[in-house]
Amino acid sequence: MAGNIAKIAGVEVSTDHWIGGRRVSSPRRFADLSPVDGSHLADVAAGGKAEVDQAVAAARKAFPAWAALGPKGRLPYLKKFAEGIKARVNELAAVETMDNGSLLMGNVHRVVPRAAQNIEFFADWALTLEGHSIDSPEVVNHVRYDPAGVAALITPWNAPLMLTTWKVGPALAAGNTVVVKPPEWAPLTCSLMADIAHAAGVPAGVLNVVQGIGEEAGDALVNHPDVDRISFTGSTDTAKIIGQAAARSITPMSAELGGKSPFIICADADLDTAAQTVAGQYMNAGQVCLAGTRIMVEKKIEEQFLEKVRNASIHMIVGDPRDKDTRVGPLIHKEHFERVAGFVERAKADGAIPLWGGSRANYGELYFEPTMFAHVSPELEIAQREVFGPVLTWQSFSSDDEAVSLANNTKYGLAGTLFCGNEKRAMNIASQVTAGTLWVNCFFVRDLAAPFGGARDSGIGREGGTWSFDFYSDIKNISVRKGSLT
Ligand code: NAD
Repeated sequence: MAGNIAKIAGVEVSTDHWIGGRRVSSPRRFADLSPVDGSHLADVAAGGKAEVDQAVAAARKAFPAWAALGPKGRLPYLKKFAEGIKARVNELAAVETMDNGSLLMGNVHRVVPRAAQNIEFFADWALTLEGHSIDSPEVVNHVRYDPAGVAALITPWNAPLMLTTWKVGPALAAGNTVVVKPPEWAPLTCSLMADIAHAAGVPAGVLNVVQGIGEEAGDALVNHPDVDRISFTGSTDTAKIIGQAAARSITPMSAELGGKSPFIICADADLDTAAQTVAGQYMNAGQVCLAGTRIMVEKKIEEQFLEKVRNASIHMIVGDPRDKDTRVGPLIHKEHFERVAGFVERAKADGAIPLWGGSRANYGELYFEPTMFAHVSPELEIAQREVFGPVLTWQSFSSDDEAVSLANNTKYGLAGTLFCGNEKRAMNIASQVTAGTLWVNCFFVRDLAAPFGGARDSGIGREGGTWSFDFYSDIKNISVRKGSLT
C-alpha cells in the first residue's frame, strides 16, 4: 500500500484521500486519537478546497460511464463491493472500535454486516425502478429514475462506516458518483471502504474520499458548484450552515439530524422487556441519534418500573469496548466529554437529581457513568437538548394525553419508543407523537426498505427504500401520446 499508512489493531489503513482511483496526500494533517485509550492513531490528510475540487472533478468525469451502465450493469460491482466488506468484517470492526470507541462485538455482529447490506440492498432495489409507467386516458407516462450526478456525502463519527454506506449504497446504485467527507474524529473505516470498493472493481472516480475538518473540507464540498446532491448526517447546528450553502445553489439536500426522543412506558406493557430496553439506551455510551433519552412512565407503575430499570442499568460494565462484557464504552473525544459533563452539571444546578450515575466513570478519562435524572421538569435544558451521552431523564404521566404532550415537548422529532399492551391505545399514542420512526414494543429495528428520517429539527426528507432513490435521482416523466409513435 503506497502513501501514508497507519497500522490500527494490526490493520493497515491509508491516512490519505482517495481521489480518482488513487491515493492523494495533503501537506497538512490532523491528529486522530483513540477514545479507547487516548492513543495517537494517525495523522490524517487535512483536505481543503484544492482536494475537494480534484475529487468533484474526478467524480464528474466518471459519472457518464457509471450512469450509462444502468442498474443491471452496476449490480456486479456493488455486489462485489458488499462481499468485500463482509470479507473484512473483523478488520473493519476492530478499526472502528479503536477509532470511535463503539463496542467491538456490536461492530462485528451488527454494524459492519449492516454496512455490507446497505450496499447490496440498494443495488438490488435499483433494479425495481426500471420500466415504471402510469397509464392515462390520452398518454402513457414513462417514469425514469435518472442519476442526479455528483453526490456529496457527509457523515458523523458515531457510526461512520454504517452511516456512510447508507448513503453510498443508494447513491451509487442510482448511478451517481460520490465524494465522501468522513468525520474527523473517526475517519479511518471510510478510508478502508475506498480500498474495498477499488478491489471490487468500482471504476476510478466513482467513489472518492476527501478527509478533513468539517469547516474546511466539508464546507468546500457543500459549496462546490458542481455538486448535484448533498446528503448530510450530523447535528442540527451544522445542518443549518450546510442548508445555507444548499439554498444558494438550489442543491437538493437530505439531512438526518439529532434527536431527543421519547420512550413511553404504559402500565399494561411487558415491563421486564421495557426495562431492559430502557437500559439499552446506554448503548454506544448514548452516542446514538435514535436513543430514547426521555423516559416517560405511567405513574401507577412508576416505582416498580424504576426498580427494574435500576437493576438493569447499574451493573452495566463501563470499560474497554474491545472486551465482550463491556456494555458502555468511552465518549468519542475530550471536547465531547466536556460537553456531556457540562449538561450533567447544569442539570444538577437546575434541580434535577441523578438517581444513578452523574459523574466520570472510574475506568478512564473519557468514560462516563450511565446516568438517570429525576425531578426533571419539561422545560429544563436536560429535557430539551440532545446530550449525546449516557444520560437519560425520568418523567411520569397520568393520562395518554399527558404522555403525548410530554413526548412532543421538544423541537426534535427523530424517533420515539412506546411500550404498551393494548393495540388501540398504542396506535392512538403512536399516531400522535411527532417522529420519523415510532417503535412499539421494540427498538432500533430498521428495515432498509422502510422510510427513515426526522421531523422538525431532526431532519429534512426521508431515506430508505424508494425514498433514497427519490432523493438520489432526477425523476423524469416521458409522457407519450397514445398511438402517436410507430
Ligand atoms: P457534526 O454536525 O458536528 O458533524 C457531522 C459531519 O459534518 C462531520 O463529518 C463534520 O466534519 C461535518 N461538518 C462540520 N461542519 C461542517 C460544515 N460547516 N460544512 C460541511 N460539513 C461540516 O455532528 P457530529 O458531532 O459528528 O455527530 C453527532 C450528531 O449527529 C448528533 O446530533 C447526532 O444525533 C447526529 N446523528 C444523526 C443521525 C441520523 O441518522 N439522524 C445518525 C447519527 C448521528
